[in-house]
Amino acid sequence: MAHDGLIRSLLAAVEAAPGDLDLRAHLAELLLHAGFGSEALAHAREVLTERPDDVQLLGIAMGAARSAGEADAAARYERLFNALGGQPVYDESIGSAADAVPHSTRAAATHHSMDERGDDGDAAELDEYDDFLRDVLAEDARTRIRLSDVAGLTDVKHRLEISFLGPLRNPELRKAFGTSLRGGLLLYGPPGCGKTYLARALAGELAATFIPVTLNDVLDMWLGNSEKRVHELFELARRRAPSVIFFDEVDAIGMKRSELRGSAGRGVISQLLVELDGMGSSNDDIFVLGATNQPWDVDSALRRPGRFDRTVLVLPPDAAARIAILSLHLRDKPVEDDLGVDDIAKRSDGFSGADLKLIVDSAAHLALEDSMSKGRVVPISHKHLKSAFKQSRSTTSSWFDVARNAAYFANQGGEYDDLIAYLERKR
Ligand code: ATP
Repeated sequence: MAHDGLIRSLLAAVEAAPGDLDLRAHLAELLLHAGFGSEALAHAREVLTERPDDVQLLGIAMGAARSAGEADAAARYERLFNALGGQPVYDESIGSAADAVPHSTRAAATHHSMDERGDDGDAAELDEYDDFLRDVLAEDARTRIRLSDVAGLTDVKHRLEISFLGPLRNPELRKAFGTSLRGGLLLYGPPGCGKTYLARALAGELAATFIPVTLNDVLDMWLGNSEKRVHELFELARRRAPSVIFFDEVDAIGMKRSELRGSAGRGVISQLLVELDGMGSSNDDIFVLGATNQPWDVDSALRRPGRFDRTVLVLPPDAAARIAILSLHLRDKPVEDDLGVDDIAKRSDGFSGADLKLIVDSAAHLALEDSMSKGRVVPISHKHLKSAFKQSRSTTSSWFDVARNAAYFANQGGEYDDLIAYLERKR
C-alpha cells in the first residue's frame, strides 16, 4: 500500500525537521489511521522518548503496536497509558487495529489546513520540485535556531562573528574594510560535528531564510534538469532575501562530474558558478555557505576567489562542549537530578555532536522501556546514560585517518594549517 500525498509530504517534512515533535506526532497518527502500524509505531516511539507522559501519543503507540502485531509492546504501552489516566475511545474510522486510540484533532487539523491551501487531493500530483521548495520553506519556518543553540565550538563561533557576522551587522565596518562579503564560506570537518547545525544557526542570527541543498540530491533527483533547478534555488533565495543557501556535500559535484562523464555535472557546476558570481542577477543579501567532509575533493573552480574561498574547520567538541551538547539534548526530556553528564563527557573524547545526541536518544529509549515495564514515567538516570554510552562509539576517527594524509598532501597554500595543528596536538 502506497502512502497518500499528505503522508508523503509529512514524511518529507519530518525528514527535513527531525526534531519537530508535533509534526512527528501528527505523522504517527496519520500513519496509524492509514494502516501503517509499524511506521506509526517508530515515529510515536521517537516522540515518546521526549514526552513519555503524553497520554494521547501513548494511545497511538498502543494502537500502532497492536496493528503491527507487537502484542507485548502494546500491552506495555497500555499499562503506562492506563497508569496516566488515558481514556480509550473507539474510533470507527480506523477500526479494530487501533481501537484504543483516543480520537485526536491533530489529523483533522492537518487535513483542514492542507484543504485550505488546496493541496489535499492534489498533493500526489504536485510537481516534485515544488514540493521540495515548499518543504524547504516550511522547514525553515519551524526550525529557527541561533548561535547560542550551538553548544561549544567557541573558536568557530568567534571566527564567524568577526569575519562574517560583525561586518554584516555593521555596514560602516564593511565599507571601511572595503571587502564585499561576496563569496561563500566552506565549513569542513568530520561528520556530525555541527556544520549543518552551525549554518542553520548563522541563518537564524541573520534572520535570513535558510535554504539547505544537498548537492547529491540536486544531481540525482533532477538529472537533466539540474541547471534549471540550481537557478530556481537562487531565484527563491533572491525573492526571500536575506537568505542563506547552504550547499551540503559540496565535494559531490567534483566526483559526479567524472562519474557522469562530464555532461550533467559540468552543466550544474557552470550554472552554480554563474549564480555564485551573481551574473545577470543581484546577489545582495544572499549568503552562500557550503559544507564538506572532503574539502580536498571540491572542484577547484568552486574554490576560486569570490566563490567558496574561505574555509572554516569544524572539529569534534572538547570536554566542555560535550557537556553542553549532552545537556542541550537532555534539556526537554524528563531527567533525574544527578545525571552525571560530566562523567560521560569526560569519557567521550573524539565523539561528534551527532554521536552525543545518539547517546541521549538511546538513554531516552532505555528510560521509556523502563517506564513501560514499571507502568509509571521513569526519568532518564545516570544508569541509562552509562548503558547508552557503553553501546556507542565515536564516528570521527576514520575521518581523521583519511584527513591526515589528505591535509598534509594538499596543504600547499596553508589552508589546512588549522587541521594540521589539531592533528599535531592530538598526537
Ligand atoms: P555531516 O558532515 O554528516 O553532514 P554535520 O557536521 O553537518 O554532519 P550536523 O548535521 O550539523 O553535522 O550535526 C548532526 C546533529 O548533531 C545536529 O542536528 C545536532 O543535533 C547535533 N550536534 C552536532 N554538533 C552540535 C553542537 N555543537 N551543538 C548541539 N548539537 C550538535
